[in-house]
Amino acid sequence: KAKSEGRGTYRFFEAKLGTQVRERRILEHDLRHAIARGEMHLVYQPQTDVQSGAIFGFEVLLRWQHSERGPISPALFIPIAEESGAILQIGEWVLRAACREAASWPNPLSVAVNVSAVQLLAPHFAQMVHEVLFQTELRPERLEIEITETALIRDPSRAQSTLRQLKALGLRIAMDDFGTGYSSLSNLRAYPFDKIKIDGSFIRAVDENEQTQAIVRSVLGLGRGLGLPVLAEGVETAEELRFLIEENCQSAQGYLMGRPAAIEQFAEHTHNTTVPALTDKVA
Ligand code: C2E
Ligand code: MG
Ligand code: MG
Ligand code: MG
Repeated sequence: KAKSEGRGTYRFFEAKLGTQVRERRILEHDLRHAIARGEMHLVYQPQTDVQSGAIFGFEVLLRWQHSERGPISPALFIPIAEESGAILQIGEWVLRAACREAASWPNPLSVAVNVSAVQLLAPHFAQMVHEVLFQTELRPERLEIEITETALIRDPSRAQSTLRQLKALGLRIAMDDFGTGYSSLSNLRAYPFDKIKIDGSFIRAVDENEQTQAIVRSVLGLGRGLGLPVLAEGVETAEELRFLIEENCQSAQGYLMGRPAAIEQFAEHTHNTTVPALTDKVA
């Protein structure tokens, strides 16, 4: 009996695995046509100066509205696009659209674009970025590229040479999701980063425990020591923002200051020549 049950369980898993594989293949296929079908669009999340509340830039986040399945999270489709290589086409589309948009904003508002390991390590990535900057006429100092540490692990020397080429173009490079995954302090020294983005998971736990406060404080100290500005991701509450103000964190991003939204929602900022400050969120 146990044996047949075992087989049943095995068949169940096999069937389930089969469904997952099929699902993945469908998404992989659909991803290749998503841009042509107009299913992809960009949303923008403000990045603010912690002390003044002023918006200094926006991070671009990709959204996929599948014609039959509705919205699909980047956490699900980005890894599939990376594995299939579709991220190369999609990523170039994101970069071009984001730079074109940002070129219409008042100086010095900046745009931050996420770049995955597959893109960074692809041949001629820096050349492609150079072309996009040239075509869109966005000044390179107004573009920031966000990469995570996983992008460095696969091929450190290639990552380093591409990052150097990117730096030579005049843009900035931010380390995204700092403190998660394969964090290594030596990465901050070995690669030409301009900014550290502390992962939102630390910020969200800052109220609850002193260990997390100590971690955030030490990342801020690390940034100061290395001369790298630190941005806190995922700021949701006034208490979290108050902590960051007290600890002299330079910049922040999160639902408290603004959820990712269509750029039209921020017209007041992107169509003015003077950049207004956000209303003070700290009670
Ligand atoms: P990320 O670059 O670390 O982006 C931050 C994520 O946190 C975004 O999720 C954003 O919507 C979310 N977020 C922002 N503020 C808050 C907050 O206050 N609370 C909470 N709970 N979440 C907040 P999203 O848009 O789902 O993107 C997830 C990840 O997908 C991104 O993480 C990034 O790694 C990747 N991604 C998104 N767009 C692109 C893209 O165009 N290209 C590439 N290569 N990756 C992308
Ligand atoms: Mg990011
Ligand atoms: Mg992040
Ligand atoms: Mg992330």
